[in-house]
Amino acid sequence: MEKKTPNKKPTEARKASDKPLHYYCPDCKKAFIGKAKGDACPTCGKVPPESIDQDIRTPLVQSLHREATANADKRDAAMSFLVLGAIFLVIGFIFLQLSYKPVSQTDSTKVIRPGSLEFVVSMLGIVLGGAAFVYGVARAVYHTRKIRVLHHDIDYINSKMRLDPGPTPLLVSDLYKNLSLRFRNYLKIRAVEKANQAAKSKEAERAGEPPIGDSSLHSGE
Ligand SMILES: [Zn+2]
Repeated sequence: MEKKTPNKKPTEARKASDKPLHYYCPDCKKAFIGKAKGDACPTCGKVPPESIDQDIRTPLVQSLHREATANADKRDAAMSFLVLGAIFLVIGFIFLQLSYKPVSQTDSTKVIRPGSLEFVVSMLGIVLGGAAFVYGVARAVYHTRKIRVLHHDIDYINSKMRLDPGPTPLLVSDLYKNLSLRFRNYLKIRAVEKANQAAKSKEAERAGEPPIGDSSLHSGE
């Protein structure tokens, strides 16, 4: 019924003409950009092997896991900056509202009073809160992306036993894939349910009028 689209998996062997990839140096335990397959590590000068064994894989993956954990801690710190910034922003805007005061006792038109304490507090809240919020968002996005790349690369190294993971898909494309997969599964389940129901009602039809259920027999009790 549904046409299966061939899943494009990263090709086993990449061409030298491909875009620069990042490689993991098993000695430095860090990624670097290589222009062609097997470029030398800029730090130690060694050319990473194309495929690896357990002795190389285990310490490398362990160090990548540690790096991911460190990034998760930094992301959490960034999240608290984000939340604090949001709170300060809200306070700032509340005080900005409060710094509007009537022009005089006779004129009730409200104007902003830059000299008032409320205005100073609101400016502090908006400036500090805004800075903390922007900083928190930027750091959180950066570390989240880093964690995703590390996890993607760990999976690649573990499954392929190679050191040249391709680009990590963006979070949005992953979310889209996830959602569309869920939706397709939902449609499949619905189709199966419908087919089951149709089969049941057909069976009931074939059996003719179903005998009067037990419930009516016992209803007199
Ligand atoms: Zn190296």
